[in-house]
Formats: sequence, structure tokens, C-alpha cells
Amino acid sequence: MVDYKSLGLVNTRDMFKRAINGGYAIPAFNFNNMEQLQAIIKASSELKSPVILQVSKGARNYANQTLLRYMAQGAVEYAKELGCNHPEICLHFDHGDSFELCKSCVDFGFSSVMIDGSSLPYDENVALTRKVVEYAHQFDVTVEGELGVLAGVEDEVQAEESHYTKPEEVIDFVTKTGVDSLAISIGTSHGAYKFKPEQCTRDPKTGVLVPPPLAFDVLDAIMEKLPGFPIVLHGSSSVPQEYVKIINENGGKLPDAVGIPEEQLRKASKSAVCKINIDSDSRLAFTAAVRKVFAEKPGEFDPRKYCGPARDLMTELYKHKIVDVLGSDNKLAQLD
Ligand SMILES: [Zn+2]
Repeated sequence: MVDYKSLGLVNTRDMFKRAINGGYAIPAFNFNNMEQLQAIIKASSELKSPVILQVSKGARNYANQTLLRYMAQGAVEYAKELGCNHPEICLHFDHGDSFELCKSCVDFGFSSVMIDGSSLPYDENVALTRKVVEYAHQFDVTVEGELGVLAGVEDEVQAEESHYTKPEEVIDFVTKTGVDSLAISIGTSHGAYKFKPEQCTRDPKTGVLVPPPLAFDVLDAIMEKLPGFPIVLHGSSSVPQEYVKIINENGGKLPDAVGIPEEQLRKASKSAVCKINIDSDSRLAFTAAVRKVFAEKPGEFDPRKYCGPARDLMTELYKHKIVDVLGSDNKLAQLD
């Protein structure tokens, strides 16, 4: 049993409370490798933002859970080296699909876990989520549950169609399970192809696909039922077209990739939405930078020469998200 507090990590409780009251959202960035982690910590430390390091089941399989935990522990020290004396870093397990997996993360030093029972019948989702909460809360680990189904593909999580969260279910779910936060479905989705072109309109000037707006009426109805309760948005990458362009101009093929417009996420950040998950945008930045180096310098074979620029571009992306989309800069409880 590893106590996350001994690693210098924090759970989400306090950061969410402040985010709701302050009208901003905490970034939840997925990481799978060293460069992504360096970029996340550099951006969040320099901007004095609390941050959630998100590990998916796929990341666990790719990078090894032990290594990821030591990396998160190292991240706390790295943040301090960067001048952030009181970093607030949460290590969160994304999309846990079984009690055993969530328990293993709690035992292993994670400070927060998600149990995603959203594909189960309602009563089974309640029972599974309740079981994880009962276990995790013994160790002061916070738990995110989910109601409603997001479309799209994210590692091993996928669904054909989305189903908006039903506002009439949220009070019952939160009361029965005791979850600390609730992921909802209001039109975001996983991956870089969030919408089919036929679901979108095309900007006549730029030719860029414009997706249908998020269902803010559903979000409002949920907030009315659960005043002050932390809400989470998954699948909230914006798929920056400048990265898609670099990728496609340098040998890539990502036709019609489309994400959630940042103005809508900014609007959501000001509400009870206090955690916004961003993964695909960082993948796109990494790929764009690497493709550009390979196209311009085909003789390059030192990974530092293409992973370095990828890290720089991701740092720039994370800073932009923190300042311009989430508003979480300068929001650490202790700024010195
Ligand atoms: Zn997700």
C-alpha cells in the first residue's frame, strides 16, 4: 500500500471546490511518456496552476503502472525545481472499468480514480461506483463516476453513439454512490474525429468543419439539480487546425478531424464544470512537431532532436489551454 500523500500528491477535493467557486476548471492532461509529463509540469508550474495527471488503462499497459507512479512522484519534485514550492498535482486513473483495477490504483499511490460504469444498466453502475467509493474513501482517494455515454474512441473506451446524461438521474446517482465528481455527456466525445462531417456545417470562408454546439441546456439542468457539485467533461480536445495542417502537409493523413470549439469549453469552465479532459490535442501537437522535423531533416535520427520540439509544442499547447481556455493560472492555494 502506497499512500499518495507520501508522494506529495493531492486528491481533487480541494482543487475542485476552489475551481467551482472561482469560475475556472482544472486541466486533466493524459500522459504516457516523459516528454508529455515534462511539458505538463513545466506549463502548470510556470503558470501556478493545479493539474491532474491522467493515466488511462492504455497508458498503464504502454508505460507500466510502477514507472508511471514514480514519474508522478518525480513530477512533484520537478515542479518544485521549477520554482513551484507548493504544487498541487493529482494522479488520476482515467476510465477504470472494474473494482479490481480501481483498487489496484488506490493501493498503488493514485490520489483519484474514475470508475466508468456508464455502459452498464443504471443500477449496476450505481452498485459498482458505490463499491469503489467505499474502498477509495478509506484512503482519502477521490472518485469520479459517469452518467450518460460519450461517443468516440479513446484507448480501449469506445461507443458508437452518445447518450446525453439524464438530469433526472443525477441526484439519485450522486446520493447513492457518494462520488466526489460526476462526468457527464453533453455532446463532447473521445478522439480526434468527434463528429462526422454530415453532423457539422462548413465555414464558408475557411472550409473548416463547425461541430454542433454542446448541450448547455442539459448542463444547466444538471447544475440546477446538484448546486455546487463538481462536473467533469471528457473528450474535450479542440483539434487545433494548425496542427492538423502541419501533419497533413508533412505526409500525414487526418481528413476532417474536428473537435470542440474552445469558446464553448471556456464557457463551460466558468460553470460547475471543474475538470476538463484533454488528450487528443497533445497527441496532435506531438505528431505535428515530429512530422515536421522528419520532413525537413530526413537524416535526423537522434530522438532528442524530434521529441524535444514535440515537447516544446506541447508545452505551448498546455499553457494556452491553462490561460485561455480553463483559466486555472495562478490558482494554487499557495502561490509562493
Ligand atoms: Zn474519457
